[in-house]
Amino acid sequence: MHKTMIIDSHFHAYSGKDCSGFLRDLMEKAGLDAISIASIPKELVHDEHFYNEEALKLKKENPGKVYAFGSLDYSDKGYLRGKVDFAGQAKRLFEAGADGIKMLEGKTNARKALGIPLDSPIYDSFYSYMQENAFPILMHVADPEEFWDPVKAPDWAKKRGWFWGDGSFPSKEQLYSETEGILGKFPKLKITFAHFFFLSADIGRASRFLDKWKNVSFDITPGWEMYDNFSRSSSDWSAFFKNYNERIIFGTDNAPPSKDNYAGQLERCISTISKIRDFLETDKEMLSGKGISLDTASLKKICSGNFLKAIRSPYENHSG
Ligand SMILES: [Zn+2]
Repeated sequence: MHKTMIIDSHFHAYSGKDCSGFLRDLMEKAGLDAISIASIPKELVHDEHFYNEEALKLKKENPGKVYAFGSLDYSDKGYLRGKVDFAGQAKRLFEAGADGIKMLEGKTNARKALGIPLDSPIYDSFYSYMQENAFPILMHVADPEEFWDPVKAPDWAKKRGWFWGDGSFPSKEQLYSETEGILGKFPKLKITFAHFFFLSADIGRASRFLDKWKNVSFDITPGWEMYDNFSRSSSDWSAFFKNYNERIIFGTDNAPPSKDNYAGQLERCISTISKIRDFLETDKEMLSGKGISLDTASLKKICSGNFLKAIRSPYENHSG
């Protein structure tokens, strides 16, 4: 059987730590062909993941094996008054070799900390620069709907402080409407929405969104609630994945060990990859149902082809 090339489009790292050995071990042991490292915006949330320089360095040292998505810097709070040049930040990242920009700005707690809407005019020159150059954005918007629900919010999420139901956070619908606001202004923007845009519980809405905005994609980085939803209606989702096989991108949220648990973390990362592959490639019983057993052509696009196309080629749909 022909081997499908696999690229993990959504991997995180830690600043100040060299993870090149871990990356090499993971690629070899998990059968990955390449990894794309996503940095996280500076001084919103998760500063340990602001990783622009390290990601660019790893890319340079591992050509064709490591890709780098940089992120924006919010340490100058003048951005709130439109005084920070985000387009200039992006330009410098691309000149330094970045493949795209990772935005966490639309994660519910990050958006609260940000203090401006995702479609604020403060971002217009940035989005415009990205659209003009057909540079890709990997963007986290929203969260699973349970995170707003005091009864249904999972304990692991509450423990991480990820409960959005106290009235101080933007609602899921507000985050979606700000996203529509971005795309309304910049309809050709090439955005991959992380974690399936948190629409795995609503297949109709997922397909309406992809039909409306022709240059956006979803990544299938877990949240296992996604795979719970997918596997429960595996025949519907199998048809969806085949139909939109140019709009879905493989990713994991894997990361190197944050402390001294190298072997355990390596094992966890490998297991995440093999669970996702089982779901895509087989009809094995799993989670709430079974896998979706995709055809080879769809697998090739989802597992690497769509990512490579997103970072390399200009727009598919020039509509004016
Ligand atoms: Zn992530």
